[in-house]
Amino acid sequence: MPVTVDELKPRSARLEIQGASASQVNSIRRTLLADVPKLAIEDVEFHLGPIRDEATGKDYDSSTSMFDEAVALRLGLLPIPTDLGQFRRKSECDCGGAGCVHCQVMFSVDKKGPCTVYAKDVVPLGDATLQILEPDVPIVRLGARQALLAYATATVGSARDHAKWQVAHGVGMFPRPHVKISRKEGTSDATLKRAAAACPVNILEFSGGKLTVTDETKCIFCGACEKIADDGSIKIEADEEDFFLTFETDGSLSAREALRYALKNLKGRFEDLRDSIQAIP
Ligand SMILES: [Zn+2]
Repeated sequence: MPVTVDELKPRSARLEIQGASASQVNSIRRTLLADVPKLAIEDVEFHLGPIRDEATGKDYDSSTSMFDEAVALRLGLLPIPTDLGQFRRKSECDCGGAGCVHCQVMFSVDKKGPCTVYAKDVVPLGDATLQILEPDVPIVRLGARQALLAYATATVGSARDHAKWQVAHGVGMFPRPHVKISRKEGTSDATLKRAAAACPVNILEFSGGKLTVTDETKCIFCGACEKIADDGSIKIEADEEDFFLTFETDGSLSAREALRYALKNLKGRFEDLRDSIQAIP
């Protein structure tokens, strides 16, 4: 199964996988979506009652314009950089799930209005490298005399448990397109010209009485050219053993780390399945 890495950026990747079936590539796609773990805020403890600003002596209400549950949900969706060598799920941790430096991270937020609370105001207690990756995400607005004081605990999970633990986004797969041109006798230049002009991704070129394809991998299978040259002069086929896989991450893990984890996870699950089958007497 030869794999070509067409593009590998910190937060996105595009691969071409050859000699594979759609179900094999789809299993990688689904593992990327659901099984790659990361840190996300799971518990939030809001301070209740008045909050006094020690410097000015002013009193604030510990309330915001939104319900605490809605604020907690927004905190849960913030991307936290995750080192899977350092952090693991509570259920797999040596602490037995009690909570330790290997399975949870504490954050605090302490803001007084009027202002907008941003992701950068949610600060990790201790390790500054765990700072939220998108600092300018707005969370909630505070009016005059309103304040938000809360402590949040992030734990490791995967999207199988909740979407806030989803590392990979926009995970797509599509077969390699083959645009075949074999001009039939009755096809006019005008028809081929119109077919080239109809292509929304501009990969058909008509010049010198000839229609050519510039980059068939950009074809989106819309079929617009086929419909215009409807005598079979242009045919688009989907390869059954050659697929492109594209995805992005939210930055909590790099595209490389997410893919490596997904492939390792998939391999482990197939090995478990093989062991289970072999154990059948
Ligand atoms: Zn632990």
